[in-house]
Amino acid sequence: MSREKTGREKVIRVCGIEPESIVDGPGFRYVLFVQGCPHHCHGCHNPESWAFDAGTDMTVGEIFDQIMENPNLRGVTFSGGEPFEQADALLELAKLCKGAGLTVMSYSGYTLDELEARHDPATDEILSLLDMLVDGRYDESLRNLTLVYCGSENQRVIDMNRTRKARAAGDHGMVVPYKSSYDIEIKI
Ligand code: SF4
Repeated sequence: MSREKTGREKVIRVCGIEPESIVDGPGFRYVLFVQGCPHHCHGCHNPESWAFDAGTDMTVGEIFDQIMENPNLRGVTFSGGEPFEQADALLELAKLCKGAGLTVMSYSGYTLDELEARHDPATDEILSLLDMLVDGRYDESLRNLTLVYCGSENQRVIDMNRTRKARAAGDHGMVVPYKSSYDIEIKI
């Protein structure tokens, strides 16, 4: 008889891992490139991540244990591929990472508004845990090499902690851009 997988047993389809990056968010970060992306942006830097039937399966527990081996890490970044196509398993990893005191950042080809419009519990819970979200598809016509943490001008680097705080104070549609390239708030 099959049973439902627990958090650590859930499987993430992985395209690649960068165990210590300084270009995918603030500080030293473990970057998980997930496999599978429906957006197919023209000029995508990682088209090998598009196929949903490629890549390697890893459990949440395996990935988290790798992360815990490096005491220098400040946080974890979900990149792609499209992380929110694997929201259920990534939520478990995000919970473990936050519990270990790490910041969590995610890229998504979906905008924040599109993610919220899904009304998907796992998506909503990831959004409630994220410190930073870089949202929107890559638009080659808006490419700008001077941008920090994103590639085209339509994409937003969002400070999710300050966004939640502003919304809790009544500013419902507020999206607060991430300002500092050096520090982010961890607590709401
Ligand atoms: S969302 Fe990201 S990974 Fe997906 S096609 Fe666009 S640039 Fe590539």
